[in-house]
Amino acid sequence: MLFLNEICRSYQIDNGLTKLSEKCLGEVKSVYEKIDDVAACNQLKVLSAMQKNKLSESHFAAATGYGYGDSGRDALEKIYADVFHTEDALVRTQIVSGTHALAVALFGNLKAGDELLSAAGKPYSTLEGVIGIRKTEGSLMAHGVTYKQVELTEDNKIDFTGLEQSINPHTKVVLIQRSKGYAWRPSLSVEEIKDVIEFVKSIKKDAICMVDNCYGEFVDTIEPSDVGADMVVGSLIKNPGGGLATIGGYIAGRADCIERASYRLTAPGLGKEVGPSLGLTSGIAHGLFIAPSVVASSLKGAVFAARLFEELGFGVLPKFNEKRSDIVQALTLGSRERLSAFCRGIQKASPVDSFVEPTPWDMPGYDCDVIMACGSFVSGASIELSADAPFIEPYVAYLQGGLTAAHSIAGVVIAANEMLKLEKI
Ligand SMILES: *Cc1c(COP(=O)(O)O)cnc(C)c1O
Repeated sequence: MLFLNEICRSYQIDNGLTKLSEKCLGEVKSVYEKIDDVAACNQLKVLSAMQKNKLSESHFAAATGYGYGDSGRDALEKIYADVFHTEDALVRTQIVSGTHALAVALFGNLKAGDELLSAAGKPYSTLEGVIGIRKTEGSLMAHGVTYKQVELTEDNKIDFTGLEQSINPHTKVVLIQRSKGYAWRPSLSVEEIKDVIEFVKSIKKDAICMVDNCYGEFVDTIEPSDVGADMVVGSLIKNPGGGLATIGGYIAGRADCIERASYRLTAPGLGKEVGPSLGLTSGIAHGLFIAPSVVASSLKGAVFAARLFEELGFGVLPKFNEKRSDIVQALTLGSRERLSAFCRGIQKASPVDSFVEPTPWDMPGYDCDVIMACGSFVSGASIELSADAPFIEPYVAYLQGGLTAAHSIAGVVIAANEMLKLEKI
């Protein structure tokens, strides 16, 4: 294969690894076809939402100050609502991250005396501070919201019995995390999320089902909001920003839930009326337009990594031919040296900061040291090829992103090579 020969030549890749990569690329072809088909469906969905809402060049003008009547921002929010098939959406440059978007949705929809229930075990690390699982000033718990979580069963499935026992008259919001986060569990499929939502609603009709949709957008042809979620929440520097959004988060869902969230983001009574797009509407819309194919590119890298690392004898989750619900590929590397080498390889393969050596650090919001490889155009954007990992046993690398398939595949080969060098010393 021309492409693999080029990588081999430019990056002095081991001959055996080049041959193995070629074999693996051949084996994942049929998976790639399915990925392209999903991307094509999602491309049409995004295109028609833009046309239906008459997205226009005039929407790209930069609003400033209060942002009253920012028509670009309003059009973008209608487009998001149509893509997710929801009544309304909040898509804002003032939302600084996925964690912030989740916090806005939670704080907006919970008050003292209400209970938050996590249906899929411990939520993503940064939410521990938001909820107050890790004692934090200003957390939901500090504000009088109570919290329960239902652990997954031994085979990593939703525990419906536990769920039934945990729902009570105070249960207000049920949080369902689609992606595995930093946990060795399969991500929840949209179908599994549907079962959870139907089950919750059959017990408590007015419980708000909220899905942490980070890393999940456009991996399937339907989203959790198509199967009954009252709110779906995510980050624009992940999937839906398509690598072009430079900041932002979204919450799409039922109009009343979005209104309460907007009162939390800005101020009660002001809500969605204020908050200027600051000239970022074009980039965010442009990113959304290409997001389905960018997600496909990153999935291709993940699928290839799953095949290659399985062949190299490492634990992989999911396997290359298993159904995916997010763009994250977990690889159990088993030693700190291998994990560091893998991250070094991903960094080396990056277009930006390729000369930097990633080292573990005490990142805010996480309870252990984290190592991150991310040489990206948008700082910290994990829709760009990146790898991160809590620096603890059993040294699992979480790989995601890749703006183009060629880059994500090349990155995986280079990272594997960096690791294999260790064994040769
Ligand atoms: C990334 C992520 C978050 C948090 O998003 P940030 O943008 O890093 O704050 C929350 N949940 C999941 C599942 C994520 O992958």
